[in-house]
Amino acid sequence: MGRSIGVLATSQLWAGIVDGGALGTVKVYPGPGVPHIDLKALPAGAIITILRDQVRALAAEGPIESVGAGFPGVISGGVILESPNLGQLKGLRLADELRAALQAGGIDVPVVAINNADALAAGIAATRQSIDQLVRVWHLGDGIGYGRHPHNEGVWEAGHMVVTLDPKERYCGCGGVGHLEGIMGHRAMRLRFLDLEPEEVFAAARQGEPRAAEFFKLWHRALAAGTANSIHLDGPGRFFIAGPNAEFVDLRLLGEYLQDMVKMSPLQGSYFQIVPTSHDMALIGAAVASRAK
Ligand SMILES: [Zn+2]
Repeated sequence: MGRSIGVLATSQLWAGIVDGGALGTVKVYPGPGVPHIDLKALPAGAIITILRDQVRALAAEGPIESVGAGFPGVISGGVILESPNLGQLKGLRLADELRAALQAGGIDVPVVAINNADALAAGIAATRQSIDQLVRVWHLGDGIGYGRHPHNEGVWEAGHMVVTLDPKERYCGCGGVGHLEGIMGHRAMRLRFLDLEPEEVFAAARQGEPRAAEFFKLWHRALAAGTANSIHLDGPGRFFIAGPNAEFVDLRLLGEYLQDMVKMSPLQGSYFQIVPTSHDMALIGAAVASRAK
């Protein structure tokens, strides 16, 4: 196994050296102790420049064979076709542009771009279990990411699955009605509870405040519904949960709701597991995915 660099966009930009399946030096933008910068406010060209500088700094440690970039949204053939939570990247030829920027600085290696949740799934597969086993992961952040390993051709925007027919459910970042992300996404929760941050909503739910407690159930039922839909299409198995809002998940409640939604006997036996170090996993997965098969 070789030495590659994984790059990742979440609410920050990350880059890390991956040697075999092990993560080495990691760069993050904005770095620790620096004021938060909303990536939505950075033009695509500025993001490419930051990534280029991160990769250059890491490649100075020794030769690399490839770069893999994990970004949110619908990505096909190295191009970001749609990215609801980083809208300025729509249409960006991410793989080509990053490759050209690196080439100009003397680093001539293949660059691959994949969905960041797929990178996370690939990283979990590479580090936690045999790489040929099915891995599915929900990433609970500003948006709701869904990653699958092995990668399947297609769109797989499961965070935008319709999980309710209530026409009032319209908080999704993509504008669609009834979507999972419209209930679970961080941005969607802020729109729903204009006077409370999501952390405060979860705290209020624990105190038994009725509106927050009701939403807490809805939030878990939505994730159970998305998972049940995946099980009915792709079969049962292990579902990983990652991202900043994974800490609010009550696994027991989630499991109960899932049991209510999946009744056919061959589809039984799924379970959930929290992934605490999702940045590391996604950097590893992006790097591993960029290597020649
Ligand atoms: Zn949506």
